Amino acid sequence: KPRDKKDVQELIKQHNVKFVSLWFTDILGQLKSFTVAVEELEAAFEEGMGFDGSSIHGFARIDESDMIAIPDPSTFALLPWTSPEKTTARMFCDIYEPGGTPYKGDPRYILKLNLEKAAKLGYTFYIGPELEFFYFKSDKYPEPLDEAGYFDYSLDAAENIRRDTILTLEKMGIKVEYSHHEVAPSQHEIDLRYAEALTMADIVMTYRVVVKEIAKRYGVYATFMPKPLFGKCGSGMHTHQSLFVGDKNAFFDPKDPFYLSDVAKHYTAGLLKHIKEITLVLNQWVNSYKRLVPGYEAPVYICWARRNRSALIRIPLYKPGKEKATRIELRSPDPACNPYLAFACMLNAGLKGIKEKYELPPPVEVDVYHLDPEERAALGIDNLPGSLIEAIEYAEKSELLRETLGEHTFYNLIESKKKEWDEYRIQVFPYELEKYLPIL
Ligand code: GLN
Ligand code: MG
Ligand code: MG
Ligand code: MG
Repeated sequence: KPRDKKDVQELIKQHNVKFVSLWFTDILGQLKSFTVAVEELEAAFEEGMGFDGSSIHGFARIDESDMIAIPDPSTFALLPWTSPEKTTARMFCDIYEPGGTPYKGDPRYILKLNLEKAAKLGYTFYIGPELEFFYFKSDKYPEPLDEAGYFDYSLDAAENIRRDTILTLEKMGIKVEYSHHEVAPSQHEIDLRYAEALTMADIVMTYRVVVKEIAKRYGVYATFMPKPLFGKCGSGMHTHQSLFVGDKNAFFDPKDPFYLSDVAKHYTAGLLKHIKEITLVLNQWVNSYKRLVPGYEAPVYICWARRNRSALIRIPLYKPGKEKATRIELRSPDPACNPYLAFACMLNAGLKGIKEKYELPPPVEVDVYHLDPEERAALGIDNLPGSLIEAIEYAEKSELLRETLGEHTFYNLIESKKKEWDEYRIQVFPYELEKYLPIL
């Protein structure tokens, strides 16, 4: 792993790199990239590369649109699918205003600010995400490649695509733990080894590119759309999280029945208490809410459990009592989120729980999908927002969200999402025509 620009120049020579792509993300987590010739790199490190911020979603207004991207040398990696005569590498960038101040709307910067809050308390934030996705024959219509299900082998039409994807990720230094066919037809999952949150946010961005690029090479389309098929499971990004103090896991307590420390319990209570306010960031599209419905292994109800997969937060017990593996798993995020902002929100909700010593309610070890509303009410179990507009309403009132994202991004995000909702709510869908036209 390179440490500085000298290491990067070294690697460029060694691998005969011709181009370097500079990557960053917009407010909604869409990857933005521009490519420079290697001769330009010294200037990019020294002065940064200018671009028009007003054309980036959620960035500056027209009258303050000059922005500068400065690559982070520690993120240098070759893009293994580029051909030898056009060998291309990439680096993630930090975004600055012309005077040299970090840009408040840069998601990477927002995550860094929140990680500093954790660092002040002595914590390093670790994340292990499970991104699910679909392969379809094209991006025009969600036609699956197979009818296989969970862990199927011989029916799996994409075994080779997945293996190629994993090899590519590994060539880029990204560690994969395992992969498998998921429950829905043509749905897959490749699980990453946990890493520190900023590194992991960069990895999630890279993962989505790699999955799509390799799919393209097999003539298929990969999508992270949360719910592409009605009546089938959607795609989640279960997010395993823990806080370490040095190499000690602050979530681990060998004497607790769940092996969870008070820190872990307060953190979990923080997530439970604030989840409705941050759902807009974890599930940011109209389509995200088509996934968060009962019956498809996606969470709907706000509770935690050890085993029960209908709960919002689960305590995985694959390796009970193993310190490093002790963690909590938040199951609501979807893989179409902005990982920088999503990780920042989860962390801040958890830290709030730790700071204010929120008390963790008892676990709910029954299938919450099958409880009726009175039973849920009796257990004090609330619901996640049921639609984008509900999520917007909770977000808009949230001090925690405002503090996590900063005024600028908080305001831009809510405005952008209100527009999306307005665009959606005036549409007339085939479902409505089929249902109403013949009878009304
Ligand atoms: N696809 C499910 C979701 O939407 C998760 C299924 C699983 O990994 N058990 O979250
Ligand atoms: Mg999994
Ligand atoms: Mg899964
Ligand atoms: Mg999981």
